[in-house]
Amino acid sequence: MERLIMIKYGELTTKKANRKFFINLLDQNIKNVLKDINYKITKDRVRMYIESDEIDLIVTKLLKIFGIHGIVICHKVNTNIEEIQSKTLELLNNIEAKTFKIETKRADKKFDIPSMDFNKQMGGFVLKNTDLKVDVHNPDVKINIEIRIEGTFIYLNEIRGLGGYPVGIQGKGLLMLSGGIDSPVAGYLALKRGVNLECLYFESPPHTSIEAKNKVIALADIINAYSGNIKVNVVPFTKIQETIYKNVPDSYIITIMRRMMYRIAYKIAVKHKCKVIVNGESIGQVASQTLTSMSVINEVTNMPIIRPVACLDKLEIIDIANIIGTYETSILPYEDCCTIFLPKHPVINPELKKCIEYENKFDYETLINEAINNIEIITNLKKQKYEDLL
Ligand code: ATP
Ligand code: MG
Repeated sequence: MERLIMIKYGELTTKKANRKFFINLLDQNIKNVLKDINYKITKDRVRMYIESDEIDLIVTKLLKIFGIHGIVICHKVNTNIEEIQSKTLELLNNIEAKTFKIETKRADKKFDIPSMDFNKQMGGFVLKNTDLKVDVHNPDVKINIEIRIEGTFIYLNEIRGLGGYPVGIQGKGLLMLSGGIDSPVAGYLALKRGVNLECLYFESPPHTSIEAKNKVIALADIINAYSGNIKVNVVPFTKIQETIYKNVPDSYIITIMRRMMYRIAYKIAVKHKCKVIVNGESIGQVASQTLTSMSVINEVTNMPIIRPVACLDKLEIIDIANIIGTYETSILPYEDCCTIFLPKHPVINPELKKCIEYENKFDYETLINEAINNIEIITNLKKQKYEDLL
């Protein structure tokens, strides 16, 4: 008799043609997250099973893996009625409940009692041996009995997984990660749809501090728990920002600065084989995120820009930030490069013609190439816990 974890894939099993690819990727992602733990994993077309002495620890880690829809701690017994009955009683003795329901799934047709009949038979057994009453509509405890070729699995409650698709199934996106609330949430939502991430952070020392950078690394580390292999590309942005400040009228500083960010993001995305850019823009949140601003800024690249939080209110974004654990770090008060040169009246409806005119006043291509050549890549986020960075 063993206690083991059963993983249900859910949504991904609907993608028939890609099923094998999905399952192998999920398997790989699980291996990345569990790499310091002893366990054995087996998989088939509809389930994965994990055996280990550290079941509870593994469950907490699996709760951060996309592509898993249900996690079940189940008990494997041989397919014979006595073993099924005694295990069921043992499990019921350890929980508080007044009502129950039996749900049998019979995948192994060699077991010759049909599911409905077995429900009745087991129901009668539980009624006779416990104080529980039957409630088929809203039971306190559902006793699931899955009769499969490899044995019978009994479990009481299913823990809901994160859902989504295995990270990487869609290839990679380049996340513009600032120290704010929105972009880590955007990154998380992209990961949820199977987009692996590479991160890009623009820093402007000495105008922005080492704490601001460390905060971004800490945020990357938090969302890295959902993926396992995120890197952060830190772009030295000071010279570009100072040049913009000198050459561009106040109201257009942010617009031009963001056009430069997108130009750099595009080049880095191509370099790292990212198919899209992902960012935390939300419609109307600030002057640079009106629809006019977005389209004028977006004009510098043809690469699709995914904005997962575009249509969410700030409070909705904060809710997600709290759930994924980035909020507390995001609200630490270090200034980002977007806020240091913030003009009093940024333009809400910028004109493309003017952007081009202002940009022609300086040689931005050279500055951009110089910034890219001096990128610092931060890997091994795990080793750089936030506390150590401060
Ligand atoms: P956030 O949007 O993450 O809360 P923010 O509100 O300070 O941070 P905005 O000014 O709203 O950032 O910028 C919109 C988006 O542009 C960010 O969500 C992020 O994707 C990107 N961005 C802004 N500043 C930076 C930066 N310094 N490095 C990388 N990306 C940035
Ligand atoms: Mg924002």
